[in-house]
Amino acid sequence: MDILIFAFYFAYFYNVFIFQNYNLNTMSLITVGTMAFDAIETPFGKVDKIIGGSATYVAYAASNFIKPIQQISIVGYDFPQEEMDELTKRGVELDGVEIVKDKKSFFWSGKYHLDMNTRDTLVTDLNVLEDFNPIVPNSYQGAEFLMLGNLMPKLQLSVINQLTIRPKLIVMDTMNFWMDIALDDLKEVLRKVDVLMVNDSEARQLSGEFSLVKAAKKIMEMGPAFLVIKKGEHGALLFHENHVFFAPALPLEEVFDPTGAGDTFAGGFVGHLAKTGNISFENMKTAIIVGSAMASFCVEKFGPNRLREITQADIDDRISEFVQLVNFDIDLV
Ligand code: AMP
Repeated sequence: MDILIFAFYFAYFYNVFIFQNYNLNTMSLITVGTMAFDAIETPFGKVDKIIGGSATYVAYAASNFIKPIQQISIVGYDFPQEEMDELTKRGVELDGVEIVKDKKSFFWSGKYHLDMNTRDTLVTDLNVLEDFNPIVPNSYQGAEFLMLGNLMPKLQLSVINQLTIRPKLIVMDTMNFWMDIALDDLKEVLRKVDVLMVNDSEARQLSGEFSLVKAAKKIMEMGPAFLVIKKGEHGALLFHENHVFFAPALPLEEVFDPTGAGDTFAGGFVGHLAKTGNISFENMKTAIIVGSAMASFCVEKFGPNRLREITQADIDDRISEFVQLVNFDIDLV
């Protein structure tokens, strides 16, 4: 009899605490990257200190599609509590965000050229990032989606290695900075991810090929089965096996600041996939459109300001504009 009672309680507690906790996490998304202060100069204006960071932009974009977002990052004593509260309000869990009491947050500064497609990095102050050792909280285990935002490849790898169950999809963003100083680590991460996102010049640098088709083939041989090549105001390409899909960028009247557009694109892309739970090539085409729509908001104001304002209706309208942009009839005789 005692054994029966024990079995009953065991089954009950297992269900409530283990099974349900695990289930709650299955549709969640872990996002990894920087939370930062940026100084930005564009042909249209200048800001000396604005919230930025790859993980910040990813979280702002993805939280429109999926909750919770489980953030892994690091900030210093100077990162505003109001910003943390704003993210929490949007369903971003911050258990994995370390706060260092005696160091400053990561700081990045960039200046855009007149065409806004190219920029110079003026300052990269690692600060708290120098000895960052990301720890994946237990409550994050079992997440189905992992978005590795732009960060040191070694740290991206450390997060993958700490996960007890491999996520259904691992998406990775990176940049030329890491190709210059940590190429071997970057190649090691590449072997473990499903989707890589880079811009066209980074794809060329990584592969040593000028043709983006040849570059894509070489990069997919390095690990990721899917590759997204972003081309700024000229849209984005999605490669998988012998398939390729192209999505335009929306021609916008006002482009104030492209900072974070790549991360916002990534957030929209992975947010859509996590929301639908479908990781097919077909659904990734839709995800590219969603990512492009989110990025088009990002550039309309400095920093993440525009992303803070938009509503679900704004997002739906913007996605419809994309559909209109590429929708045409053709009569072939
Ligand atoms: P994006 O314009 O999409 O490339 O993202 C710009 C954001 O990435 C800025 O808010 C920066 O704080 C952040 N960032 C810049 N350089 C790096 C880096 N080397 N590692 C991680 N994040 C960075």
